[in-house]
Amino acid sequence: MNLDQSIEKICDILEESSYVVFLGGAGVSTESGIPDFRSKNGLYHKKQKRFMAFRPEYLLSNECLRKKPEVFFEYYRENLDARNVQPNAAHYALAAMEKAGQLEGIITQNIDGLHQKAGSKNVQEIHGTIWENHCMSCGKAYDVNYIFDSREEVPHCAECGKTVRPDVTLYGEMLPGRAYDNAIGMIRMADCLIIGGTSLEVGSAAQLAHMYHGKSLIIINKSKTRMEGKADVVVHDSIGAVLSSVTDLMGIGERAT
Ligand SMILES: [Zn+2]
Repeated sequence: MNLDQSIEKICDILEESSYVVFLGGAGVSTESGIPDFRSKNGLYHKKQKRFMAFRPEYLLSNECLRKKPEVFFEYYRENLDARNVQPNAAHYALAAMEKAGQLEGIITQNIDGLHQKAGSKNVQEIHGTIWENHCMSCGKAYDVNYIFDSREEVPHCAECGKTVRPDVTLYGEMLPGRAYDNAIGMIRMADCLIIGGTSLEVGSAAQLAHMYHGKSLIIINKSKTRMEGKADVVVHDSIGAVLSSVTDLMGIGERAT
């Protein structure tokens, strides 16, 4: 199957499906310029002198937040500030699909909020989000700027003085229960699953993908992915380019503004 044929096949599947779910990973955001964690240009391999003494997983771990909060917040502010990042063609295409009734919702591992920025409504963020933050003691909620713009090494709660942390799932922490439960519910209802921007090597996306027993499976990823043997369509290409071709062909491709 060449690319045009794959895109036609994807459109045919979407049109005959009644409950389509998109399960996405870091590859969806890399086209907006956000580095993923482990690939060659990813955060994991970025050399940052001040943080050389620590493993990257440690810098984004619950242990680091508790034991070395000043290091945690310095690393977090420097590497995870996505406030000014803009959605790409993949985000806009998925938002257009939802608006047109062709997509039930999105399950994402990304914490940047770009799907919502593009206009998507049903987004389950199974690793949390940088956009919500809370006091670790009294639970008071804080907006995204509170942490990124704070002049304190460790941001403190205005009410009780304890640490304010992002609602992002760190290494060593449980996934946010409600988002993960919603995600499982969607996976069980789906008769079409689109997996994009993740190689399904490890973790929660892989677990969710294995829970899927619906009719059709579409995989879009630049590199090879596990589960390709079970897929109806596999495309190794840019997710933004593929999804916007799909929405163009379906006549729903207007970009959100
Ligand atoms: Zn507090």
